[in-house]
Amino acid sequence: MPADPVAIARDLLRCPSVTPEEGGALAYLQTLLSQAGFTVHRTIFAEPGTAPIDNLYARIGTQKPNLVFAGHTDVVPPGDDKAWRHPPFAGAVDGGMLYGRGAVDMKGGIACFVAAALDYLAANGAAPQRGSISLLITGDEESVAVNGTIKLLQWAAERGETFDHCILGEPSSQQALGDTIKAGRRGSLNGTLVVRGRQGHVAYPHRADNPIRGLVALIAALQAPLDQGSEHFDPSNLEFTSVDVGNPTVNLIPGEARARFNIRYNDRHSQASLRALIEHRAQAAADGRIRYAFEWPPSNADVFFTAPGPFTDLAMAAIKDVTGRQPQISTTGGTSDARFIKDYCPVLEFGLVGQTMHAVDECVPVTELVALTAIYRRIIEKYFG
Ligand SMILES: [Zn+2]
Repeated sequence: MPADPVAIARDLLRCPSVTPEEGGALAYLQTLLSQAGFTVHRTIFAEPGTAPIDNLYARIGTQKPNLVFAGHTDVVPPGDDKAWRHPPFAGAVDGGMLYGRGAVDMKGGIACFVAAALDYLAANGAAPQRGSISLLITGDEESVAVNGTIKLLQWAAERGETFDHCILGEPSSQQALGDTIKAGRRGSLNGTLVVRGRQGHVAYPHRADNPIRGLVALIAALQAPLDQGSEHFDPSNLEFTSVDVGNPTVNLIPGEARARFNIRYNDRHSQASLRALIEHRAQAAADGRIRYAFEWPPSNADVFFTAPGPFTDLAMAAIKDVTGRQPQISTTGGTSDARFIKDYCPVLEFGLVGQTMHAVDECVPVTELVALTAIYRRIIEKYFG
């Protein structure tokens, strides 16, 4: 009997694994994968100031190439349970839809890959014919993502594990399963602009130096376009997210004003080149008259792009075989754990339609789970075929 992705997804949805809770989700996968012959490792990572996080690495086979599927079992909180049509951790099936927090992001995707792998192994003598299949599953993607994939990859590398190609099962599809595959992500860089003035009474502005004037001038200057986009990416964008003076009184000119911003940047930039560009623009606009400084907190979200090649072709062909669709290659959206995986092997993101992710009544059509399982199954077969 073929492995049932809907049953696996239901079981996973019934584990309340809101970050940082493991919720039984990894234990469930451990049992399922061990029974199928995988060697399964569980590792807990921690560091000061963050919650310890449970992670899982499973592998079957010892040969190269090692095809790895990556994902996360943690989910965002459900919010008000009563706002849901079905309880968020019940795994209810109703009208052909499977409901629950994580149905599309991304327990559904994990269930499909597990079902596809188990089905492939059952059909091929319980081991890959050549090569290995691995799963790299974290419990820390939705929150700060410091004790998850980034450390799991380091841990695996220290054990001598190598990866050849990775599918990250995030919900990449936009409107219909198979319409979009993600082959890269923009980088993300945060900054704070601090303008210094001199505090004083609002009735005597000549005795003070209002930093808000300078801040407004610099904000205007920093909003000029950063580029026109590149072959695979939209234009980079700088967005101010907060302007803060922290002044509770009405008759005081503040001594300092701050503005926070985030830049989503494409492959025309690096973090260093962006910082230099922003500081250059501020310097020109300040023209020696505005006292300012930038704060640049560290960012671990660099831009990347997985160049087209045989692996992308293989995945596209598998998607077309099952859905009839020719996926478009996209680099839009927020960051994902692919930003860490790309340092180890080429990575593509492909999974369910993401429209209800993080929403009340998150759900996935049962037929879509079956179709995604067929696509993953086809990818595995072509990869080792
Ligand atoms: Zn996700």
